[in-house]
Amino acid sequence: MGGMQSLVILGGGTAGTMAANLLRRRLPSNWTITVVDRDDRHPYQPGYLFVPFWMKPERVTRDRWAQLHDGIQHVEATIARIDAPARRVLLATGQELAYDWLVIATGSHPRHDLVSGLSDGPLWGTKIHDFYTLDGATRLAEALRNFDGGKVLVHLAELPIKCPVAPLEFTFLVEDHFRKRGIRHKVDITFVTPLDGAFTKPVASSAFGDLLEDRSVRVASDFTVSHVDNDRARLVAYDGRELPFDLLVTVPPHTGAQCITDSGLGDDMGFVPVDKHTLRAHADDRIFVLGDASDIPTSKAGSVAHFATELFVDNFLAAIEGKALPNRFDGHANCFLESGRGEALLLDFNYDTQPLTGSYPVPVVGPMRLLRRSRINHLGKLAFEQIYWRMLLPGKRLPVPLLMSKAGKHEPREH
Ligand SMILES: Cc1cc2nc3c(=O)[nH]c(=O)nc-3n(C[C@H](O)[C@H](O)[C@H](O)COP(=O)(O)OP(=O)(O)OC[C@H]3O[C@@H](n4cnc5c(N)ncnc54)[C@H](O)[C@@H]3O)c2cc1C
Repeated sequence: MGGMQSLVILGGGTAGTMAANLLRRRLPSNWTITVVDRDDRHPYQPGYLFVPFWMKPERVTRDRWAQLHDGIQHVEATIARIDAPARRVLLATGQELAYDWLVIATGSHPRHDLVSGLSDGPLWGTKIHDFYTLDGATRLAEALRNFDGGKVLVHLAELPIKCPVAPLEFTFLVEDHFRKRGIRHKVDITFVTPLDGAFTKPVASSAFGDLLEDRSVRVASDFTVSHVDNDRARLVAYDGRELPFDLLVTVPPHTGAQCITDSGLGDDMGFVPVDKHTLRAHADDRIFVLGDASDIPTSKAGSVAHFATELFVDNFLAAIEGKALPNRFDGHANCFLESGRGEALLLDFNYDTQPLTGSYPVPVVGPMRLLRRSRINHLGKLAFEQIYWRMLLPGKRLPVPLLMSKAGKHEPREH
């Protein structure tokens, strides 16, 4: 069996928890697995989208350590730094954790402090809100209840952010919210984006653009935010454009975890450069990076963390034996997009293929229609909460393909 071997997993969120549970079943008993995270509260982050409207904040979070299977250790502490050459992790408490192999799953983090005037002025928490943190989403619920008309900006500062469709989803849901309250005619909604359209990928962007127009939502595109003017309640762009607001809901820039930057392992946004097919860190063969923490060019999403982590398991088992890695990740992402009116769309894409129309997971039959609004997609999105806690985190196989399939999809026609 050999001597003791240790795997340390940094971050007990979506990817870290899944990886620990999947590997515990596959690694022999001379391996210890230790998960490090700063607290004992695991949020179901997709729930943040619904908290401003109807979901109770208490429902979003469960005990973090209870999600780990037997035989997995945990350490509740803030990670200060990784010392890769010495194969050890330094904790803020001054303690050290030695490892033979390391998985980094420290996620991506909204940084309100990176836009001047956003969270450091008097309007933060009154006229300026966010829904990318549980506290923010909870405060926004209250603000929306009290809002009775005026200019609303839904603002995306820059990419990458986690779940890049969430700002659009919020826009559709907030439009619904005002309509249901009978005050839609008193609210002027603008979707503000640094992109030249509603989304990054052309087929999806035109589908979402049409939908925004349908709902009478204005789009301010190519808007690169410079700062927020708190005195005049205006969002200001570098090109001089100014958008006045009575309510600004912003999704700020994201970076990787501070401990990644402090370890010298990150790019200039704090994301760890990896081989995009194997998720092995360029800097060190003993480090793999799962979930939002790496620099792979696909969406930062729970679905990506899920597909990649399942493929990673066999690669890890090969790596520790010194063998070639058998699996290649293709960047597969799969996102439900709430479109309001009790409906949702489904997007399925990877490194090479943009979201196309068609059906999923079974070509032609579906049941989910890609890029078309339907009730069943909306129910799928809501059902995902239970799937997350009961199947995804414990590491049970879901009946969907890990690599993207082109079957059932329609390529755009050349003109
Ligand atoms: C509003 C919103 C809606 C979303 N909707 C969807 C959706 O519909 N579908 C979808 O697929 N995805 C969605 N996501 C994205 C999804 O939640 C993330 O992509 C996913 O959780 C990433 O998993 P992760 O393990 O990489 O990071 P996380 O789950 O964020 O975990 C990272 C962990 O690292 C810990 N950590 C970081 N730094 C330190 C440190 N220094 N010390 C100790 N611990 C540390 C954190 O505490 C955290 O627990 C959404 C996200 C948001 C915010």
